[in-house]
Amino acid sequence: MTKIFLLFAPQINNFMQTVDDFNFKDEKVLIRVDFNVPLNENLEITDNSRMTAAIPTIMKVIGDGGSVVLMSHLGRPKNGPEPKFSLISLVKELEKLTSVKVHFASDCISEEAIGMADSLNNGEILLLENLRFYKEEKEGAIGFANELAELGSFYINDAFGTAHRAHASTAVIAANFKGKKCFGYIMAREIANAEKVIGDPQKPLTAIVGGAKVSDKTLIVKNLLKVADNILIGGGMAYTFYKAQGGVIGNSLCEDDRLELCKEILEEAKVKGVNIYLPEDSISASAFSNDADQKVEQSNAISDGYMGLDIGPKAQEVYKNVLLGSKTILWNGPMGVFEMSSYESGTKEIAMAVAEATGKGAFSLIGGGDSAAAINKFNLGDQVSYISTGGGALLEYFEGKELPGIKAIND
Ligand code: AMP
Repeated sequence: MTKIFLLFAPQINNFMQTVDDFNFKDEKVLIRVDFNVPLNENLEITDNSRMTAAIPTIMKVIGDGGSVVLMSHLGRPKNGPEPKFSLISLVKELEKLTSVKVHFASDCISEEAIGMADSLNNGEILLLENLRFYKEEKEGAIGFANELAELGSFYINDAFGTAHRAHASTAVIAANFKGKKCFGYIMAREIANAEKVIGDPQKPLTAIVGGAKVSDKTLIVKNLLKVADNILIGGGMAYTFYKAQGGVIGNSLCEDDRLELCKEILEEAKVKGVNIYLPEDSISASAFSNDADQKVEQSNAISDGYMGLDIGPKAQEVYKNVLLGSKTILWNGPMGVFEMSSYESGTKEIAMAVAEATGKGAFSLIGGGDSAAAINKFNLGDQVSYISTGGGALLEYFEGKELPGIKAIND
């Protein structure tokens, strides 16, 4: 992959520059990574996947004959340094993953850090202490960003998970590197895959939108109305749509202040010729519990005292058929309370249908909310095209928002 062409996303230029467009020989490359890994109480890494994901970008620079200065946040420090959030806990693992000598600067903008960056040899890595030990990082302070910028001659952003934040290291800093900045492999991959859905999708495009709340998904659904052929709605959010149309939904989740909005979405879909599917039937329960009394009923006629906790068998069948006829699929949010075995079947059937459609040649992107957790729960992670690591950043991308971390590289 050299240049990735992007067609419709407003924040994207005609192409974006990635690490493959540069040779980093003798460059001191400042890379914003997402090393926000989980640690146990002994400060041991319990899942290193965020680190392993960043290795290809780091090794491209090292392989070209440059040196690397890595910066990241870790956890949520409140007021300055806290030992449990120190990136020093990651040094050994980083050396293991790269087979490269890793130096550590115990303060990301100190004289010590500048000295260590200056004396860094090609082929070596300097890891900076947690950026969020300074409140200026999240504030996007220009002075702080400029101090960080002194540590390198080139800037790479490879932290898609924070691309929707205008922080010092993710966006503000980039202004110091005119012509000497680009996306790392993770960023490039995330954007390219999101663009396969929202930019220039193979049709028909079906979006599955589920999860608990309509209010979380409103902007996504509205933006998807511009490109999708079908939108399959599931999860707790479906009941606000039913109530908006006069349905009786018992104790199901409902956001009464979003009823009008649901009506508007349904109207807009009609005008735009987008098929919005609501689950015809539901598995309802007498309580929010795995062992509650359960029945299958029409989603617009849920019994008094019952709540819809999963899409029913008829809805599963309809959704499955739509998915099997799709060429592009986006999945955001579960169809029911999949964490409880009694209400997992809707999400499981949809996951299996997405995998089957992918096997028949569709492109499927799973991301945001709990969808990645759901697809992994059913061991289907390797049967879909791409599982985004982006979380909030991916959602904002699909909402059509300009992501500061992307804009800063393209400016
Ligand atoms: P989200 O983070 O928006 O993707 O929402 C995921 C959560 O929605 C999961 O924890 C599900 O258990 C929950 N959920 C899905 N369907 C329902 C439902 N019908 N009623 C209540 N919660 C639900």
